[in-house]
Amino acid sequence: MAITVTARTNRSGILWLVATPIGNLADLTPRATEILGSVGLVCCEDTRRTGKLLHLAGITAPPMAVCNEHTEHDLIDRVLDSLGAGDDVAIVSDAGTPGISDPGERIVAAAVAAGATITPVPGACAAVAGLIASGLPTGRWVMEGFVPRSGPERRKRIEEIAAEQRTVVLYEAPHRLARTVSDLADACGADRRVTIARELTKLHEEFIHGALGTIDIGEPRGEYVIVLDGRHVDRTPPDDDIIRAAVDAEIAAGASRRDAAATVAKRLGVPRRVAYDLTIGNRSISEPSE
Ligand code: SAM
Repeated sequence: MAITVTARTNRSGILWLVATPIGNLADLTPRATEILGSVGLVCCEDTRRTGKLLHLAGITAPPMAVCNEHTEHDLIDRVLDSLGAGDDVAIVSDAGTPGISDPGERIVAAAVAAGATITPVPGACAAVAGLIASGLPTGRWVMEGFVPRSGPERRKRIEEIAAEQRTVVLYEAPHRLARTVSDLADACGADRRVTIARELTKLHEEFIHGALGTIDIGEPRGEYVIVLDGRHVDRTPPDDDIIRAAVDAEIAAGASRRDAAATVAKRLGVPRRVAYDLTIGNRSISEPSE
C-alpha cells in the first residue's frame, strides 16, 4: 500500500523511531523529548510505562497505541493512514531502541514499502552499550538477540553462534543466563572469552569478564547482555602490552604478582606463566612484597 497524502498540510507525516533509556533516564536525548512532544501518535509496548516516561520528560502525552508482537501487524494501516494525513508518528519500545529485539520492524518494513519518510532518533541500545565496554573486538560483530528457549532450534542456533568468527552479542533473561552460558561453553569450549554486562546504565551496572567455562556470574539479578568472543581460526593471543597493563592494574590495586598473573590469565585466556613472566620483566611495577 502506498501512502496517499490526504493532508491538510499537503505533506505526509514522518515515522520517527525513537530510542528511550535502558535504565538511566538522563539517556533520553533532547531530540527524543522534542519529537515525542510533537507527534500525533506514539506506538509503544506499554502505554502506562511510556506515559510515565513522557510525564517525567515533561511531555503532555499524545494519543498512544499499543504495539507489541500481537498488535503490531494490525497497527500498520493506522500508522500509514496517520502518515498520509500529515501526522507524524513515533515508535518507542519499553526501553532502548525500537526494532532491536523489540517491536517496530514490521511497521517500518510496511512504511518503507509505502514510500514513507522514516527517521531514526538514536539513543540507548543495550547491545551496543554492552559491546563497546566488553573489551572484545568491535570491528566486526553480530547481534543474535535472544536464543530460542529450547528444542532443536536452540541447539542449531547455539552451534551457529559457536562457529561465528565475529563477536556475538546476545540478550538473556536472568533466570536463563546460567544455562545459556553453560550451553555456550559446551558448544564453544570452556576457554572462549566472554563478557557479561549487567544492569547497564543503572546503579548496579557491572561487567564480568572471563571465559565461558569458569566465569562467575553470581546470582543472576537484573538485565543482562552476553558478549561472546568470535571463534578464532588462528588464535592470536592478546599482545604483551595489553597483558602487562592488566597485570599492572591488578598489582596497583593491591594484588601480589602471583595473584595478578592468575586473575589476568583467566580474564584474557592466556597461560598464567606468560602473565607472570611479564610481571617479572616489568621493572616499573611497584607491588606489595609477597
Ligand atoms: N530494544 C532494546 C535495546 O535496544 O536494548 C532491547 C529490548 S529486549 C526485549 C530486552 C533485553 O535487552 C533484556 O532482556 C536484556 O537482555 C537487554 N537489556 C535491556 N536493558 C538492559 C540493561 N540496562 N542492562 C543489560 N541488559 C539490558
